Amino acid sequence: MTIQTRIDQNRTEDSAKMQPGITRRTNPDEIRHDWTREELQALFDLPFNDLLFEAQLVHRRWFKAHEVQMSTLLSIKTGGCPEDCGYCAQSAKFDTGLKASKLMEVEKVLAEARKAKEAGATRYCMGAAWREPKDRDMDMICAMIEGVKEMGMETCMTLGMLSGQQVHRLAQTGLDYYNHNVDTSEEYYPNVISTRTYQDRLETLERVRNAGINVCSGGIVGMGESADDRIGMLMTLANLPEHPQSVPINMLMPMEGTPLGRSEKVDPIDFVRMIAVARIAMPQSVVRLAAGRELMSEEAQALCFLAGANSIFVGEKLLTAKNPEEDKDRRLFEKLGIAPMPAHSCPAEK
Ligand code: SF4
Repeated sequence: MTIQTRIDQNRTEDSAKMQPGITRRTNPDEIRHDWTREELQALFDLPFNDLLFEAQLVHRRWFKAHEVQMSTLLSIKTGGCPEDCGYCAQSAKFDTGLKASKLMEVEKVLAEARKAKEAGATRYCMGAAWREPKDRDMDMICAMIEGVKEMGMETCMTLGMLSGQQVHRLAQTGLDYYNHNVDTSEEYYPNVISTRTYQDRLETLERVRNAGINVCSGGIVGMGESADDRIGMLMTLANLPEHPQSVPINMLMPMEGTPLGRSEKVDPIDFVRMIAVARIAMPQSVVRLAAGRELMSEEAQALCFLAGANSIFVGEKLLTAKNPEEDKDRRLFEKLGIAPMPAHSCPAEK
């Protein structure tokens, strides 16, 4: 047992002893796929400190408490997307002033990946603004995956919907993760997107999962959804046959020109609660504090880490949205005593 593991264990045991009045809601060892709305609601309703305590117990059971994964996201094909996701500046349906570009050349993508690796990233995520990839693009996509893998980083792609054949090809190339978010609850979804259905999304996730690729799937908070919708989204994710190995929880970054461009800011405490419930419901998943960090104070981010978030995106840009600069992140990590998580630390990873 390493010293750090022993410290983590002792701390967990001590905290459990120090809280005799608490009725435990969760068993940190248990991985469940049958969460009810009422159970998740009861977690959301806990006093804040009790919720964070529960989340910490679960978090420390499966992860090193002071490690946070550093991922970098590159837009390999920007804008001109035929979908109408109401939060997205890359949709061709909205006038956001964004210039569309073609699929980046493989060498340029690899040069960016090298920089990300030097800056400490262990996962490299590549995103294309497509409804789905064309078969003719798959050679370049696979060359990007191979090149990034050779650098020793985990690879993740987000390319929209995928056919069975395309999933097979990605799996054969050794893609580690595929990102495809459910975005929100099934009930609220039609308010945000009309060009593809919730079911389409679940089917893509199923294909990816069945091909043995790790799934990255989460959603966005702050699109006008109700507290019930937030529970609905977590219920969808937590009751999938396998929990997504990565669960990004985004705070909406309102984009000028999009239907959600004037949305109200999310209450940071509500957002922390969302992270904590995600951590408890999906104990072995890496929960990512994804877009929206730029809108959060350092204190709010620290609470998100305390609630069980253990991944962030580093780099100045998240596709088209701003992200905190690397120096700021490094300083925050130092203040909080957080260390970067090594690649392949997710206990549920295939
Ligand atoms: S979120 Fe993705 S699929 Fe939706 S409009 Fe933006 S780029 Fe297209």
